[in-house]
Amino acid sequence: MHPHGASFPTSVSAQAPENPLTGGSQPTCNACGGGELQIFYRAPGVPAHSCLMLSSREEALAFPQGNIELGFCTACGFIGNVAFDPGLNRYSAAYEETQAYSPRFLRFLDEVWEEQIERFGLGPGMTALEIGCGKGEFLVGLCERSGCGGIGVDPGYRPERTRSSAARRMSFIRDLYGPKYAHLQADYVCCRHTLEHIAPVREFVRLVRETIGERRHVNVFFELPDMERVLEQGAFWDIYYEHCTYFTRGSLARLFRSAGFDVHRLYKAYDDQYLMLEAQPAPGPTDAVLAQESDLATAASLVARFEQQVGERLQSLSDVLAQHRARGHRLAIWGSGSKCVSLISALNLSRGLGPQLVAVVDINPHKHGRFLAGSGLQIVSPDALRSLRPEVVLVMNGIYSEEIRHDLAERSLHPELIAL
Ligand SMILES: [Zn+2]
Repeated sequence: MHPHGASFPTSVSAQAPENPLTGGSQPTCNACGGGELQIFYRAPGVPAHSCLMLSSREEALAFPQGNIELGFCTACGFIGNVAFDPGLNRYSAAYEETQAYSPRFLRFLDEVWEEQIERFGLGPGMTALEIGCGKGEFLVGLCERSGCGGIGVDPGYRPERTRSSAARRMSFIRDLYGPKYAHLQADYVCCRHTLEHIAPVREFVRLVRETIGERRHVNVFFELPDMERVLEQGAFWDIYYEHCTYFTRGSLARLFRSAGFDVHRLYKAYDDQYLMLEAQPAPGPTDAVLAQESDLATAASLVARFEQQVGERLQSLSDVLAQHRARGHRLAIWGSGSKCVSLISALNLSRGLGPQLVAVVDINPHKHGRFLAGSGLQIVSPDALRSLRPEVVLVMNGIYSEEIRHDLAERSLHPELIAL
């Protein structure tokens, strides 16, 4: 499962000026354009992609690496990887990000569909535009339930995976979103788990605003990982190369306000893992009005102690795994997404540290038999655990612990679960 939802990266690289983040020695902020970024966290030599499905171990081991150097903008709170090189991006139909095989995730999607349709009165005769629609699950559900039409944009869209009664009201563009799509007209624009893959965020949000133009009734909905939780918990596995930008509620709202949106609602969802923003176009920049937007001081203090926090998390995880190793236990990791790739790399699990890693499991059948970038480990189905019988299973996202325990019990397996 992709830790961050059923969607897909886009880029405005065609029109974006040279990325200031990768420029000189004092990187400036890609969100406000003014602030200088203070580097506060480094992770060198990480796989450049973690959701790309690789068909051989050799390809996975030889996969290009990039560096992570997170910078914090003291002016607006934006966080970005200043070492990000968009040239390493390989987004294509081989990108496998969907989480729609998890019942827990499907329940969450249900809630988002229902809430969005009700809040914005989506119905027949209206059009929803989804930027970065991935395999299209979210847009399809929205159109089926509301009766509205839909336009989805994503280079990783796979038409053969769409089976829907709403299909004739929908169209898909297999491309990156960019200025050439500024003419698309919609009554509702959503963008889920995509912004974090985009480096020139200011250009991107301005392009979305431009696309809407004078259509002031349009509602905009963005969903992305919440960085506040990652900072608070020292959750280093949630920082990976594919995500070049990170937001808290305040920094996200500031970006939208500066681009000519009025932010109506800002909240967290999915056990506070996701950040949700609802906005409408305004004639120009708008002022902060929501209490959640004033988080700059909090973010700065979380950033200041993040490295130490990460060190503590890494140490305690290593200690637990060392105990299992001493007892001769076999380890399986459940969840083969980006978090998993980050963690294996940080803990050196593929290099014989920790207990013997016997399997990396995923419930998405499209991932079975494929290989993880960097470590070259093969992804297997939960059924493979019947014979491997691991004593301990590392759960990459604690929100799935219950369903994983259930899936294991169904196979008469009762290993100890360690949930992140
Ligand atoms: Zn800034």
